[in-house]
Amino acid sequence: MRLANIDNRAALVLDQDGAAKFVDIANASDGRWGPGLPEVFEHWAEVTAWAVELDVPAGQLAPVDRARLGAPSPAPRQVFAVGLNYHAHAAESGFAAPTELPPVFTKYVSSFSGPDTEVVLPSAGNVDWEVELVAVVGREAREVAEADAWSCVAGLTAGQDLSERVTQMRGPAPQFGLGKSFDGFSPQGPWLVTPDEFDDPDDLELGCAIDGEEVQKGRTRDLIFSVPKLIAALSEIVTLYPGDVVFTGTPAGVGVGREPQRFLQTGERLDSWIEGIGELHQTFVAAPGAE
Ligand code: ZN
Repeated sequence: MRLANIDNRAALVLDQDGAAKFVDIANASDGRWGPGLPEVFEHWAEVTAWAVELDVPAGQLAPVDRARLGAPSPAPRQVFAVGLNYHAHAAESGFAAPTELPPVFTKYVSSFSGPDTEVVLPSAGNVDWEVELVAVVGREAREVAEADAWSCVAGLTAGQDLSERVTQMRGPAPQFGLGKSFDGFSPQGPWLVTPDEFDDPDDLELGCAIDGEEVQKGRTRDLIFSVPKLIAALSEIVTLYPGDVVFTGTPAGVGVGREPQRFLQTGERLDSWIEGIGELHQTFVAAPGAE
């Protein structure tokens, strides 16, 4: 099943003659579920059980307008972002790969957006790209075993962990949360895909391109901490809640690891994709007064 955020309301996305169509969950359930995404995640098991039985009359389906899509989980209680979670990316960043626990930081919810956006480049800064698989938690979880962890995941979506490298390193110690949380720095979507929709949810191709030039391409089977490993490691320390968002880390190919370094410029377009999920499209504009 595919779950979308359309105008901040939960919607089921279905294919009709090759086109993405949607039905509003609150309308289709006579107000039983929804209308927002957080309420749907709170009752995730019941909503998915209801959705598989749902027979939507074709006339109730409307085309998906991508401009109306928001982040699939727009108001999580917690956002986790994982660093150095692919060997080649840890190497290009100049760090040893994590063994026991990867670095975990946050991206503030104010930086969340839907899949297709225009992003303002902060006037002084080096904005970098990081395509990432994003997992959304489907039930309250504490000390989950790796073998049970997929059952805690509502679904997967595509994300960009846009990162301003100057802010990220400003001050006496790195502070990833702020450098990665400028407005619009956490685009996600186009929708949430439940794990059962994939042949293998642990092996998805992901990548991104700037103005058509591919800059990142990897496979999630190369994650050092897979989605189940992350859920197990995080829930050993914190309680996870329905709707919580986990950015799982980026593969190699970011701008800061290049020789010479490269960062996003005004007018450039960044296209990101994950196999079986879909695409994100960002264009970058100058801050007012900067050029
Ligand atoms: Zn990242």
